[in-house]
Parts: sequence; structure tokens; C-alpha cells
Amino acid sequence: MTLVMKFGGTSVGSAAAMRETAVLIQNAQAEWGQVVAVASGMGSKPAKVTDLLLRGAHTAVSGDGETYKQEAERLRAIHYEAIDGLLAPEGERQSILAENEQFIRRFERLCQAVFVLGELTPRAMDAISGMGEQMSVRILAAYLRQTGVPAEAIDATELVVTDDNFQAASPLFDRTAEKVEARLRPLLQQNIVPIVTGFIGAAETGVATTLGRGGSDFSAAILGQALHANEVWIWTDVDGVMSADPRLVTDARSIPSLTFREVSELAYYGARVLHPKTIRPCVENNIPLRIKNTFHPDHPGTVVVPDADGVNGGIKAVTAINCLSLITVEGKGMIGVPGIAARTFGAVAQGNVSVLLISQASSEQSICFSTPDNTAEAVIASLEAEFAQELARRDIDRIWAQRDVSIVTIVGAGMRGTPGIAGRIFSALGQTGVNIIAIAQGSSECSISLVVDGEETGTAVARVHELI
Ligand code: ADP
Ligand code: ASP
Ligand code: MG
Repeated sequence: MTLVMKFGGTSVGSAAAMRETAVLIQNAQAEWGQVVAVASGMGSKPAKVTDLLLRGAHTAVSGDGETYKQEAERLRAIHYEAIDGLLAPEGERQSILAENEQFIRRFERLCQAVFVLGELTPRAMDAISGMGEQMSVRILAAYLRQTGVPAEAIDATELVVTDDNFQAASPLFDRTAEKVEARLRPLLQQNIVPIVTGFIGAAETGVATTLGRGGSDFSAAILGQALHANEVWIWTDVDGVMSADPRLVTDARSIPSLTFREVSELAYYGARVLHPKTIRPCVENNIPLRIKNTFHPDHPGTVVVPDADGVNGGIKAVTAINCLSLITVEGKGMIGVPGIAARTFGAVAQGNVSVLLISQASSEQSICFSTPDNTAEAVIASLEAEFAQELARRDIDRIWAQRDVSIVTIVGAGMRGTPGIAGRIFSALGQTGVNIIAIAQGSSECSISLVVDGEETGTAVARVHELI
């Protein structure tokens, strides 16, 4: 039996956390036989290693030659404290310290180059931001060896082949499967636990890439698919997927079971607990997915199960994404004119901007959609260029953005069979004084998304949560 387990930033965030993680790996190996662990860069609150690395790069490119050096010191403090706390001086402590020091020096050299050139390419950003994972896996693997568990740290640059879309690279599954089979299978057959870096991969040319922020969950699913794993488990710092972000809603509850579609909607609409791309490799290969708490391992967490018809249960969870704009294209001359929607989204796509929600009034007098707030100006400029003639003829009156809005998404496959849910949501929000700016219902009817003013996000999420 093969189990792929992913440990998030907090699960490897300190010596104490790595000890818990090592116990979980050891127990899993005894139970499952073949275990692969995927780890994130160290990250406990308030400092997350990936953030420190990126801050070093961003400050360097803006002409600040000092901050990255301070970040390097913080990286040393975080990693050396873990190494000192875990590894015995007579064992691998010195060699792992030296390996980590090499990464931190490399970070400083890359930031220095960025500072001198005044240029930070997506490719350089990936080389820099992936180092957190490369450091953490080396510490965890050495600690496991010290406790008697055969383990080997592996950089996913050796396994996960991606395209060269830096910062959001997509895996090439066939090439990845070949590499995983050749590199990991022999280790598993010898009962060695591979401790693989999450988040990173490499293009065919060997250049390092990353899968996007939060992408270590996706790494686990990629390896799960390549190895035909029996299950994929995501270990994090909460008791599975909860009915709302526990930082926004204090009485959020753990959800024992969710369907793949429900969890996709939650992940896509902002529930950070799972990277949205994690789901597809699991669902397509029938691999059960669990989300569990490293610091509360006896809690069952959440299991994600195949979609089924006739589920009951109404609303299961509510989530939100902040910092969006709602962009509206409106005009009486749009009525009945074919191709306006296609041209609108064509113009948006040219700027490589993702659209999170679309809503069109039935009168066809307007189309509105939401995009990340920082893209609004560019999106409006490209729409104005696309529709220059229509604007001049006044067929389109206005293209405008409402800034700083949020999408609040309510999820539950059982909502389909339960009449009146939308009504309850709208009246609850109305009574609380939350103004709903736009509405969209997922075609699967397992989610309803509402656009609200950014300032009202917390109130809206809390009020909807009371209906669960
Ligand atoms: P990791 O480093 O383990 O991947 P993340 O910080 O990426 O951890 O994701 C876990 C965090 O996701 C939780 O600590 C919680 O604050 C946040 N979160 C947001 N929405 C939800 C939700 N619906 N259920 C559980 N956690 C959520
Ligand atoms: N360390 C990476 C990040 O912070 C990947 C992850 O944590 O999943 O985005
Ligand atoms: Mg995460």
C-alpha cells in the first residue's frame, strides 16, 4: 500500500513540529509500508520562509541592498534553531548546517544579482522562492535517519517535470511519472521514505520552476498520481476543512466529509487549506484525499469522497476571496449584438488575467465579472481598446470597475435539492445590512457566490455561517 503525505509549513515550522511530523511518518510507514512525504518550506507564524525569500528578492529589485541580508539572517535563525533542536552534534548536525548555509548564501548571491541588475524575472523568483523547501526536507530527512527511519531528501526538480510558465508551472504528467518511477520506486522498495520538496519542479531544460503559492498540496497529488498511491493525506494546522476560515469565524467546525466538487469550489473560492489544483489528479485517479491536523492527529479531519447525486445537507461551508474588482461593461446598444461576451473575455484573457466570477443581466445590457483588484486598470484599458468603436457610437456607455470587493461563496452539494436556501441567505444578509452587488450560481448548483463590498466580508461570512 502506498501513501503520499504532505506536511505544510507549520507542520515543519519548528523542531517541535518536525518531531510530531516524524512520528506521523514513522507510524504511517509501519501501517502502510510505502510512504512518501512531501514537505513545505518552514513556516510558522509570523514568519513563513517562502515569504522571507520573496521579500528579499522584491526589496532587492527595488534598490534596497540591505533587507535581503536581514532576511538571510532570519533564515539562518529559523533553520539553525531547528537543526540545533533536532540533530545530535555527533551525527549529521554539521553537514546539514553546511547544506542549509549553502542555500542561504545562494539566496544572498541571487538577491545581490537582482539588486545590481535592477531586474527580477519570474524565473529568478522561482529559483529564489523554492529554496525554503530544499532546506526543510534536508533537516526532516536527517532527523528521521537519526531516529532510525531510513529517509532520503529529494528535490522535486528531479521528479516533477513542468512547462516553463514560471510561478504557476503545470506538470507534464507522463514525463513526471517516468521520473518518479525511476527515482522513487526503488527507494520505496527498500523501505526508504523519500522526503520530497513540495512547491517546486523543473522544466525539461532543468531550470527550476514553482507550481504557484500554496502549491505543495498539488505536489502531493502529482506524486500520488504518478505512483498510483492508495491515498493522499494533507497534514496541516487545523482539523481538516472547516465550515469557514477559523481565523474569520471562531466557531467554525471541522467538516467530516466533502465531495470533490464541494472541496473544489471551496479551494477555488479562497479556502487556503487546500490548493485548488490538488483535486484533479486525485479525482481522476480515484485516490481518496484526507486533510488532517499534525498537532491533533487523532482527530479524523476531513475525507474527500467522489461526487454523488441526491446528497442532503444544505449549506456546508462559506468562504471568501478579498481584494477583487467587479468590472462592468454596460450599454443599451449591447442588446442582441452577438459576440460582445466573447470579445470581452478575449480582451481580458490577452492580459493573462483570470476571471473568478461572471454575471450577466438577462436584459443583456451589462456583463460584469470579477478579477484581482491589481489588474483592474489594465483590464479596463484593454476593454476600452477592444470596444473603441462601440464606445464612440455609444452602443457601450461605460466600462468601469468597482474596486475592493470580495466574493463570498456558499458551498454544499445538498443545496440543489433544498429549496429556499438562496432566499434564506439573501434575507439573512439583508437583515444584517450587507449589500449584495452581484450574484452567480455554480452550474453544478453546489455553490452560490455573492459579490459584496470588501469591508463587509467578515460580517457576511459570519452571518452566513450562522445558517449552517
Ligand atoms: P499549510 O502550510 O499546512 O499548507 P496553509 O496556511 O496553507 O497551511 O492552510 C491552512 C490554513 O488555511 C488554516 O490555518 C486556516 O487558517 C486556513 N483556512 C482558510 N479557510 C479554511 C477552511 N475553510 N478550513 C480550514 N482552514 C482554512
Ligand atoms: N512554501 C510554498 C508557499 O508558501 C508552498 C506551500 O506552502 O504550499 O507558497
Ligand atoms: Mg498550504
